[in-house]
Order: sequence, then C-alpha cells, then structure tokens
Amino acid sequence: MACVLAIDIGGTKLAAALVDREGTVLRDGTVPTPRDGVMAALAELIARVTAGGPRPMAAGIGSAGPMDGVAGTVSPVNMPSWRGFPLRESVRELTGLPVVLAGDAQCFAVGEHWLGAGRGSASLLGMVVSTGIGGGLVIGGVPLLGPTGNAGHVGHMSVDPYGEACECGGRGCVERYASGPNLARWAREQGWRGPDAQALAADAEKGEAVAVAAFERGARALGGMIVSMAAAVEVTTVVIGGGVANAGKVLFDPLERAIEETAGLAFVKAVRVHPTTLGIRAALAGAAKLAWDH
Ligand SMILES: [Zn+2]
Repeated sequence: MACVLAIDIGGTKLAAALVDREGTVLRDGTVPTPRDGVMAALAELIARVTAGGPRPMAAGIGSAGPMDGVAGTVSPVNMPSWRGFPLRESVRELTGLPVVLAGDAQCFAVGEHWLGAGRGSASLLGMVVSTGIGGGLVIGGVPLLGPTGNAGHVGHMSVDPYGEACECGGRGCVERYASGPNLARWAREQGWRGPDAQALAADAEKGEAVAVAAFERGARALGGMIVSMAAAVEVTTVVIGGGVANAGKVLFDPLERAIEETAGLAFVKAVRVHPTTLGIRAALAGAAKLAWDH
C-alpha cells in the first residue's frame, strides 16, 4: 500500500506515523523527547514505525521552531541541544526519502484543512495556543510557508504597538496577552492565586472574576489578530488547538464577542472560529499531506 512517513518534532514528544493517501494512519509511535541524543531517539522511533510496514514514498516533518526552511535547519526554543540542526538532511540521509520540512503549527493548519475542522475551507488560519502561540495559513488550498519557512508566526503579530515587551524582542505581541503562561501571569498580577492556565480556566468556568477577565483580555488580543488576518488575506476559517483551547467556552465565547466588536467590514465579520477536531493528530496529518504533495 502506498504511504508516506509523517514526523512531528516537539519539545515534549517525538511522533512518527505511516499515513496513506486518504489520511489513514497505518502504523504510528511516540517517544518522550530526550534532553540529548534527539536524533538517535528519532532514528529508533522511525525504525520501529517503518519496520515490516510498506516502504514510504516521501517523508514530511513538522518541527517546533524557529527554523530555516531554505537550509532545512531547526532551532526549537525548548530543545537546547538543537541549534541550527540540519533536520531535513539528517532525515534524508537516514531514510533515503525525499523530505519536506515545515513548522509544527503550519502542519497543524495543513492537517486541519485536509481532515479536520477546516476541511475544504477557502482560506484557513490554524493556530496552536499553548505555552506559546504558533500558526499556519492555507490560502486557496495551498499552504503558505513563506520564503524562509516562517510564515504564520501569528503569535508575534502586534496588537498593541505601545504594549508590553515580548520575549521575541517585539512589542505588544498577541502571545504576550493570550498564551497560557501569560494568561496566568496577568491573573496573578491582579491577585489571582493559582499555578497555571489550566487552573485559571477551571476558575473562569466557575465564574471567578479575575480568571474570567484574564480570558476576556486574552480573547480580545486573539480576536484583534484574527480580524487583522481576515482583513489582510480574507481568512474565512480559524481553527484553534493547543492546551489553552481546551478551556473551551471560557475562551471561545469571549473570542466570538471580541471578533464581533472589533471587525467592521462584512467579509471580515464573516470569519468563523472552530476548536480543533484532530487535536494532537493534526500536526502529523499535516506533515503527511505535505509529504504527499511534495
Ligand atoms: Zn513577540
């Protein structure tokens, strides 16, 4: 049976799968990301997933970034042992397959467009809202990766040029308002006492005022960015995944309101937001789709 090899490189786990033309997973596996020797762990995982299976025709990799899509190198923020690591070439040497490399959030968007909540949408923005905020675009059915492979870094779009400084060096970035750690940080500054964004979501669910306000503030930032994206490239559909999206109503209700209040033009107001349907499988699906199209 014809298949491709899909690989997902994250700070906490490595995943690989053989995926057929329809998106069915034939075999798959995951391992925790080791602190050192990541490539050896990946080689072992690929050997395990491909052993005895059909020979894949190509490999697609979604990796945590930042990356250099021209050189095929990655420097994942929370994988200090990989700085400018030649991932595309290493996997090509290991497998002998043609390899395509993209960002993990870009793969999330491609996967949701292929098989998930954004299936068939004309113009899709996929976003992963968790420790950071990543994104990817599929415009007119075609993934928009950008000249260096970094298109879709929507977490670092500025929604307030006079706003707070961001860890990226920019100012007023969406991530500074809406990522999990930043939601919790702001809430603690307002007197909330809790460990993390997950606890904050539970408190917002119960109606605790500061927790509700934190999600409304984060949703306002996300909404402003989404409205800007809709105005710029006529995004029609937004699919949101990641840990913060698990908060559900406490995020999505104020987000709908923020978009309604911030958007003006009819085609901008028409943008629709959905939670992920593929969840953690979206990035693998997207990596497979990129491999099939390569
Ligand atoms: Zn930033």
